[in-house]
This record gives sequence, structure tokens and C-alpha cells, in this order.
Amino acid sequence: MKLRPATFAILLIAMLIQPLATFAVDTQTKEETAASIERHKAELISLSDQVWRFAETALRETRSSKLLADYAEKQGFQVTRGVAGMPTAFTASYGQGRPIIGILGEYDALPGISQKAQPVKAALEAGSAGHGCGHNLFGAASLGAAVAIKELIAGGKLKGTIRFYGTPAEESVGGKIYMAREGLFKDLDVCMAWHPDDKITADVDSSQAIVDFIVEFKGKAAHAAADPWNGRSAVAALEFFTTGLNRMREFVKPTVRMHYVIQKGGDVPNVVPEYAKLWCWIRDSKRAGVEEVLSRARKIAEGAALMAGVESKLTIQGGDYEMLANVAGAKLIHANMTWLGPIEYTAEEQEFAKAIQRETGVEAKGLNGAVQPLEPPKKDPEGGSTDVGDVSWIVPTLHLSVTTAPEDAPWHAWPVVACGGMSIGHKGMVYAAKALAATMVDLFEDEKAREAIKAEFKEKSKGEVYKPYVPEGPPPLPKD
Ligand SMILES: [Zn+2]
Repeated sequence: MKLRPATFAILLIAMLIQPLATFAVDTQTKEETAASIERHKAELISLSDQVWRFAETALRETRSSKLLADYAEKQGFQVTRGVAGMPTAFTASYGQGRPIIGILGEYDALPGISQKAQPVKAALEAGSAGHGCGHNLFGAASLGAAVAIKELIAGGKLKGTIRFYGTPAEESVGGKIYMAREGLFKDLDVCMAWHPDDKITADVDSSQAIVDFIVEFKGKAAHAAADPWNGRSAVAALEFFTTGLNRMREFVKPTVRMHYVIQKGGDVPNVVPEYAKLWCWIRDSKRAGVEEVLSRARKIAEGAALMAGVESKLTIQGGDYEMLANVAGAKLIHANMTWLGPIEYTAEEQEFAKAIQRETGVEAKGLNGAVQPLEPPKKDPEGGSTDVGDVSWIVPTLHLSVTTAPEDAPWHAWPVVACGGMSIGHKGMVYAAKALAATMVDLFEDEKAREAIKAEFKEKSKGEVYKPYVPEGPPPLPKD
């Protein structure tokens, strides 16, 4: 067959371009996932709103986890409850064989930030918890995406297994770390996660590594005036410790963060306090940096005890790895979010957001529903840690962020709770579900894309043996 020069040139260009287009786009299957999410939208919003209303904190998420697990079961998933020794952790699987794609969901709230779905600070229930990190949206969106994929597997359009992880207690205990230690992620090909945010991004940045520990001092009680020489003050040691830690701030890398609260510092002034307790977190860009500062903190605790003539004990309670970002995965996500387009907001939603921004003293620029350009990874992450970091060292983990709150307004605070319980949060949740599902279509269908993601993970995690910070056994359940 003879080709006309123009046709030949087009073919030649197509052949040259093809190897560069690593990721095939199966728009039709993606449209089907989006349609599934639209079909289930009312249910997903209801799940999210119920979890928002329950506002259960770490390891108390009994109703929230049951709600999501029951829904998954009703959708035909095989649900295993109470995994890794945590009653509020579960997995929900559908399908058979490889690839096995995981998707993470969270549902824990933060204490003390109850808030109505309105743009002025007002507690829904004074003193109660609230979803100040948007985890009600996190769980519902991920489950919605998992259901959309499940329907395609059931219809014979995708082959493999989809597994949703109900991961409790992200905010304090780090449920995923216990699940990771139990080996629950190790058979995955790729894992997906997202987080509510004030922007839409395919994430290439890491998070901070962190260690969470308790320092206790034990001294001797005595009458503080009658026989103080018989006493040895645990509070004196605690003060020496915090002085040492605070002096050390000058001599650590600028990326290090150290913060603590004093949990026990004596009862009355006329008794020499025999017990003192402090809860401390140390963070840095990488786990190795955390380890270094932690070893210095240990010595400071010992030195403080020596000076006060008391005993010290440092107990590690937990900690997260930094996030191992995957650039190949972020490119895939970015392509899918570009395909989805921006989130459109109504004038009322923009006004709601601006009212919050005025109320919290930041520029009233409203909501940002645009998909942000894919940026090169930053050298050091912004402040904050997540137990998704631990998962990312076991299996390639792709992460995206979606707008659910006004730009620049305080996080872990009432504005996020307010937006998470109304249409701004709902729109972000539905958008996240669609972005996750569309990306997972690629992960199921495009072996080349999957292999590129795995190769990057292998290269970046080379030589690292995963060692979780958490102590033996399951995390202790809250008592009340
Ligand atoms: Zn969060």
C-alpha cells in the first residue's frame, strides 16, 4: 500500500509519540465510574454526613466504622471487621486475583472542635469532637470509589481485586501502622489515598516523620516545708527536661519540630511531687532525622533525672514514617484530574467560604476549585505527619488532595468542620471519589503504568527495612 506523504508523516509522528504516552486513557470506563459515583451520590453524602454527626475520636469510631463496613457489605464486598486488634478497623474486598489495588479510608474526628455547618464559630455540641480534618469525607469518598471499581469488576470490565481499608485513629494512635505491622498491605500492587485540603493537587510532596513518646519521672514525696530534704521532686526533673529540650532547639536542623504537653505536674504545692509526666512529639523531614533528635532527647531525660535525683523513663507510643511520594503515580492522578476538570461552586458556596475567611482573618478569596499544576517535589515537606506514610514504605502509595474548605483558613479547626458538613465538603468528597476511581481504572487496565509506579517505589525504598514505631500488641482502647 502506498501512503500519501502527509498520511505517512502523521503516522510517523504518531509512532514517535506513542512510547512517550505511557498512560493509556480509557475514557469510557472512567465515565462509567463517574456515573456510578453519581448514582450513589446521595448515599455517599448520607454516609459522610452521618460520620460528621457521630464525630467519634480515635478508636472510639464504633458507629462510623460500622456504618461504612455495613455499606461495603451491602454492596457485595467481603468485610473483615476488627483487624489488627482494633475493633474499629476493617477491610472490605471484592474480586479475585491480581492486580490488587488498595484504597484507604479514615473516619476519626478531633476532640473539642464541635461546630455547626455555618460560617461563624458555633459548637454543635459544646465540648464535643468535630471533623476538623475532614475524615468523614475521606472515608465516604474512598468507599464510593471502591464501589465504582467493584461494579466494573462485577460487570467483567476490570480484572483483579479492589480492597478498601477502614483505618481508624489517624489523628492520634495511627491505626494504619498497626495494620501495616500485621502485614495487611503487603500483597497490594498499589495503594490509593487522598486527603481533604484547600486545593486540588496530585501530591508529590512528602510529609514529616514523627515519633510520639512519654517521659515520666519518679521521685519521693515529702512535706514541702517540714522535711523537703526527704523529698526528690519529679517536677524539678520535668523542668530540667523541658529546659534541655528547649535549649536543644537552637542546635537542630530547621526542619525539626518538637512539641509537648505536661500531663502530670504534681497535685498541691505542699507535697514534693513524686510523679511527673510529659507527652512529646518530635518531627523531621525524614525518619533518620527524628531518630537522631530522639536519641538526644533520651539523654536529656536521663540528665534531668540525674540532676533532680529521681528516676526517668521514656516510652515510645508511636510515630509515622515520612510519606514516600510517587511521581509516576502523581502524573497519572494529575492526568485524571485534568480530565475531570475543576470543581464549580455556586455563589452561595463562595460566599460561605469568604465569610469564614473574613471571620478567621485571612484574605477573602473564596474556594479554589481549580486543578493545580503538577509541581516538582519540594526538598522538605510542609508541617504535618500521617500514618499513610507507613503504608507508603510497604507498597507504592498514590496520594491526591481535594478542596473541601476555604483557602488559608485554619485546619484542624471549626472552618473545616463547618464545610465538611455541607455542600462544599460534599462536592469535594464526590470529586475525590471520581478522581480516585478514574486513576484506579488506569491502575487496573494499564500494566505499564503500574510497572512504572512500582519501579519508582522500588528504587526509592531500596535498603529501607520497615520498622514501625508502635509497641507490641494492639493499641490500648480509650477507657471512657
Ligand atoms: Zn487528616
